[in-house]
Amino acid sequence: MASDNSLAADPANDSAGDFPATYYHATLNSAPAHASLSPTLNNSLGDSITADVCVVGGGLTGVSSALNLAERGCSVVLLEAKRIGHGASGRNGGQLVSGFSCEMERIRQEVGLEVSKIFWALSREALAEVEARITRHAISCDHRSGYFYAAKNLQQMAYLQALHQEWRTLYGYDQTTLVARDAVPQWVGTELYHGGLADAGGGQIHPLNYLLGLAEAAQQAGVQLFEDSAATRIDRGAQPRVHTASGQVRAKHLVLAGNAYLGGLVPELQRRLARVSSFVGVTPPLDPALAARIMPADVAVSDCDAVLDYYRMTGDGRLLFGAGANYAARQPATLKSYLAGRIKTVFPALVDIPLEHAWSGHIGVTVNRIPDFGRLGPSIHYAQGFSGHGVALTGLAGKLIAESITGLPERFDLFAGIEHRPFPGGPFKTPALVLAMAYYKLRDRLG
Ligand SMILES: Cc1cc2nc3c(=O)[nH]c(=O)nc-3n(C[C@H](O)[C@H](O)[C@H](O)COP(=O)(O)OP(=O)(O)OC[C@H]3O[C@@H](n4cnc5c(N)ncnc54)[C@H](O)[C@@H]3O)c2cc1C
Repeated sequence: MASDNSLAADPANDSAGDFPATYYHATLNSAPAHASLSPTLNNSLGDSITADVCVVGGGLTGVSSALNLAERGCSVVLLEAKRIGHGASGRNGGQLVSGFSCEMERIRQEVGLEVSKIFWALSREALAEVEARITRHAISCDHRSGYFYAAKNLQQMAYLQALHQEWRTLYGYDQTTLVARDAVPQWVGTELYHGGLADAGGGQIHPLNYLLGLAEAAQQAGVQLFEDSAATRIDRGAQPRVHTASGQVRAKHLVLAGNAYLGGLVPELQRRLARVSSFVGVTPPLDPALAARIMPADVAVSDCDAVLDYYRMTGDGRLLFGAGANYAARQPATLKSYLAGRIKTVFPALVDIPLEHAWSGHIGVTVNRIPDFGRLGPSIHYAQGFSGHGVALTGLAGKLIAESITGLPERFDLFAGIEHRPFPGGPFKTPALVLAMAYYKLRDRLG
């Protein structure tokens, strides 16, 4: 177990073994290692293997793309730089959230009311897709339904009332219920909240077990999965070629799914993403009576602050608590004590419970917080920037990428038509963003 100090020296907790050392890694079902791309695999054409599609990145976007493409009859090679699930997909909060990271109003501004209804329907399809995949591939991943948005002040409660109305009247969504202050204890055992919005359409999963279940399904569908195989260079063109340290892949199509972990491999994609750190801690299993007191409804919870707290009970009775968003991609010096402080604010009864696991991860955030899907020429598709809202939307991305590559581009093009601007100052110099975060923090404090 890494100490707080070693975590501080290793912000993304990336060097701790094959997988980052998380609760998810400690509780995964199974994770068969996949070979790295090697020259011995090359075919008679020379120094590369060939496929219809090469996918770069083994997170939920890449694996979903590969699975959907294989189901549509494509031969697919997937290259993952480390282990499948090494990035955000293997270390997130596991919350299945309705809609998008931005408000629907932002999407209406971009595409108008009528098309925004299609976007809403696609976000519902994303959640339905997770459930369908869990059932179809018999993935054991602690899936449960139910979500609770918590209001920390009256202003946030008014926001939730407006959200409830908007989803109901404009999008016909009838799964939310407003929760008054005196009914909050039925949902969350804290006095911190002024009320909330319960959403029967949200939920939670163990994201790494879900992803590894999808990877197994992809392999069974014929996808060739390679780990420890970072793409180091891409030759674009009619038939892109992807280079790794130990071999190459030539394909008719390339899917870029490295998101916030892609680094500078494709500079024009990097410029449109801010890499934001978020932090997660997990307690030991709680006494069942205490667990029932603090989380009586056993749903996933988040508050409405710009820098929000998000938490849920795991399948084995622990509190998994996420907090913090650091737009300068740094992290608090002592991660466990930072998270313990956040937990104590919500649940004073947990003041003396030490955290067993703590880690951090990078979230790819776009300027408008709408996911960034598009093409770099006719043969390269990409999807990134789910802005902290990607557990379900990544599966949709994979589905739409597969549709587009196999001749049905219409639904992918709805997203691809949205303009995404680069961040001022570049991806790792984001003064405007840091200022914006300072403003949001102040706003949260003032209520
Ligand atoms: C701490 C945290 C909490 C979060 N909580 C939630 C939540 O509760 N609910 C929610 O909806 N969303 C949440 N998110 C966001 C969500 O996890 C992401 O939107 C989603 O996982 C993105 O998946 P992805 O496949 O696009 O990217 P990733 O999962 O980051 O996968 C990218 C992969 O590409 C690989 N890669 C990068 N470069 C290369 C290369 N050159 N060659 C080969 N492979 C490469 C990386 O190693 C990585 O495995 C959270 C994110 C974090 C970090």
